[in-house]
Amino acid sequence: MTGRVEGTAIGIDLGTTYSCVAAWFDKHNRVEIIPNQLGNRITPSCVAWDGMQILVGEAAKNQITKNPNNTVFDVKRLMGTRFSDGIVQKDICTRPFKVIEGSGEKPIIVFERESIEKKFSPEEISSIILRNLKEAAEAYLGRTVTDAVITVPAYFNDKQRQATMDAGVLAGLNVMRLINEPTSAAIAYGLDKSADVNCPDEKNVLVFDLGGGTFDVSLLKVSKAGSITVKAVGGDTHVGGETFDQLMVNHCVEIFKKRENKDLSENARAKMRLKVACEKAKRDLSSTIQIPIEIDCLYEGIDFSSKFSRAKFEEINAGFFNMFIKHVENCLRDGNMDKKDVDEVVIVGGSTRIPKLQQMLIEFFDGKPLCKSINADEAVAYGAAVLAANLSGYGNKMVQYLVLLDVTPLSLGIAIEKDDEKMSVVIPRNTPIPTIKEQVYQTQSDNQVRVRFDVFQGEGRYVKENIFLDTFTLDGIPPAPKGVEKLKVCFKMDANGILSVSAEVVSTGNKRSITIAKSGDLSNKKAKKIENE
Ligand code: AMP
Repeated sequence: MTGRVEGTAIGIDLGTTYSCVAAWFDKHNRVEIIPNQLGNRITPSCVAWDGMQILVGEAAKNQITKNPNNTVFDVKRLMGTRFSDGIVQKDICTRPFKVIEGSGEKPIIVFERESIEKKFSPEEISSIILRNLKEAAEAYLGRTVTDAVITVPAYFNDKQRQATMDAGVLAGLNVMRLINEPTSAAIAYGLDKSADVNCPDEKNVLVFDLGGGTFDVSLLKVSKAGSITVKAVGGDTHVGGETFDQLMVNHCVEIFKKRENKDLSENARAKMRLKVACEKAKRDLSSTIQIPIEIDCLYEGIDFSSKFSRAKFEEINAGFFNMFIKHVENCLRDGNMDKKDVDEVVIVGGSTRIPKLQQMLIEFFDGKPLCKSINADEAVAYGAAVLAANLSGYGNKMVQYLVLLDVTPLSLGIAIEKDDEKMSVVIPRNTPIPTIKEQVYQTQSDNQVRVRFDVFQGEGRYVKENIFLDTFTLDGIPPAPKGVEKLKVCFKMDANGILSVSAEVVSTGNKRSITIAKSGDLSNKKAKKIENE
């Protein structure tokens, strides 16, 4: 034990549907999940405006059917995205709240009431949730909290990570580190197992993390001595429990249409009432095989009543369930591991309670039982709190010995002028980080004195299939025939997954560099301004 004040750095799982905050307590020699102001260990990631005030958590969620247009949920799916992105457009169509295009192609959430408008970026909405968790921690700990580790899906790209960092700054937090959610769960798992004397020194662990809006799969090596090495990650940042709810809602809308010859799909309140009922029914279907969905006066005074079976639920989601198993296969392939060499399959995230998914995973791993010893809702925040304590220099020996070796979730590369459709990969996906990789290019035309580099992230062969991150120009190249002047490009990724790119004219040493995602892109002044507003 050190002389540090306990619990001053917190771990936050900023989830799509629920968020959770935790801290290390020296006094109890363990991490504790911090309850919110209502005493609950998880807080709905929900923000609303009732015309008078901004509501957060349960207060926002509880009024969602009365005030659907001014209640935002699963904002995580909008973080760091472009308004025109196909997936974002699809999401917007199914949400009752208004989203418009802001500057820089950013989606902006608009609350409207009696001709008053309030506009928020996804980072601002997330910062309101983060601030609420920060305040819960401060109330519980009895002191100011500024340092935090925030978790992100392993498959988040640079823009999504940057947006999460910005949300932290807006909430008045010093984000010490972003950590991938499955890695965080693996820390919780590792700490849990470290006390077990029969546990082997090293284990291959596959973490299957399916929450409300994101899906991640990670393959890790967990050592008893405290090191966690990520071998490969995969997943999809736009699928989760919310997706299943939506499919159930669509199914109910169809039933209503057939029975009553009425289309309720344009009615936000009716759809929201259906969504709440479907989400509850979905949870119940994890423990029962059939459930009634009954809503009085759903639309134009007509009641809705229908039975939903587990078999129907599995049928409408079968495509997604099969896709999850494909991602597991791909992750094993990327990590060069046979499924029989996986020692433990750890499941986290609320949606892993779905029996069919558990059954498919067990079948895929030839009957291996799933590890459910860590709490699916709390494991991610728990691991983040361990890392927060480690980075702040407190906690017990196990916490201090923690060594984390993560990987890049997506390939990073560039396209250079004249050759701009093809992606030239500099850091392949699943490269251990921190990392530095260099590649040498040459001028593309005679007497070329400047070159533009476009930086992309993704697995597409062509850059148009990938995410554009940034661009910069290197000039001062001595005129020479095409191909003579060499240009050295260096990609450097730090432990937070933050990328810096530089390019140098080899013959002269003339250099340009950029940092793609920098912590706290929002200045403190801007943060203060938004806070005051
Ligand atoms: P998380 O993001 O990990 O908090 O997961 C939240 C998601 O898990 C939501 O979509 C919930 O509806 C879903 N969920 C929670 N419990 C269950 C359950 N028993 N069966 C199916 N889904 C569940």
